[in-house]
Amino acid sequence: MFGLPPDAALDVPERTFTLESYDGGVARWCPGCGDFAVLSAVQRICRDAQVPTEKLAMISGIGCSSRFPHYMHAYGFHGLHGRALPVACGVKARRPDLDVWVATGDGDCCSIGAGHWLHAARYNVDLVVMIFDNSVYGLTKKQTSPTTPIGLATNTHPQGAFLPPLNVAETTLGFPNVSFVARTVDWNPAHLSRTLAAAHAHRGTSFVHILQRCPTYTADLFDEWRRNPDLTTLLVHDDGVPVDDGLRRMYRNQLEHDPRDLGAARRLASMSGGLAIGLLYRDPDAPRLDVHSAVGLGTPPEIKQAMLERELDRFAI
Ligand code: SF4
Repeated sequence: MFGLPPDAALDVPERTFTLESYDGGVARWCPGCGDFAVLSAVQRICRDAQVPTEKLAMISGIGCSSRFPHYMHAYGFHGLHGRALPVACGVKARRPDLDVWVATGDGDCCSIGAGHWLHAARYNVDLVVMIFDNSVYGLTKKQTSPTTPIGLATNTHPQGAFLPPLNVAETTLGFPNVSFVARTVDWNPAHLSRTLAAAHAHRGTSFVHILQRCPTYTADLFDEWRRNPDLTTLLVHDDGVPVDDGLRRMYRNQLEHDPRDLGAARRLASMSGGLAIGLLYRDPDAPRLDVHSAVGLGTPPEIKQAMLERELDRFAI
């Protein structure tokens, strides 16, 4: 099999990684865009975990958030619309030694990429998948996306979107073999960082639904939740996203939720009139395609050839 075995020892020079080690190009999102907060959080997590830049791969599709790989000093693949997940699965399947992250948006993942979204959950390859949800197509200047709320005027629906929006976390929780689903908000850096760190620590596909501010096209979309933290329910549990006193003070509305309870996770993800943030679901034992497909990785060519010839000899006449 092509690829490197999971324990491949590449020649990575010993050094200490700082936040600057992960700086890529100058980020060109609009001032105040929530994507900046996510970029900072990812760089901090990589620094804290001392992930060598040679072992880091950022994969994306198309959209504002999909410019993420340009802004990280790492391997990067800025791909086709909706296709980040199959690329990321392929990278991880053949290079299990890499730390693979995906940046995708509500338009990229939940519309044209929806088939890959479902199957990525089922494959459960070890990835962190950040779904940036600003409820519009921002890069193409405000078209209705699958998560646009009813009534929001866009360039494709000037009288207001009229179809019921898709709930990213709830939908992900409906996919077979899903192993990790969390939700967070870009305007709370502490919760954002801890949620992404929990996703990074999980072995399997970790989906993180990030409510992301887009001051250019949906400036007041999350104002209600930002101004009144009492509308947010903070999920707490020993196995969940760690919360400190600061988070507990900010979100007085707290709920003990066991992330092994899929039924409760689905109810919390879909609750109307409020917003549950934290770890909704985790199954550390869900089967992983990358583990299965890593068998035989790195087999030397002469052994591969001998195996092929032995197989073909079975059909010799
Ligand atoms: Fe961010 Fe919106 Fe600007 Fe895109 S259009 S960079 S999502 S603020």
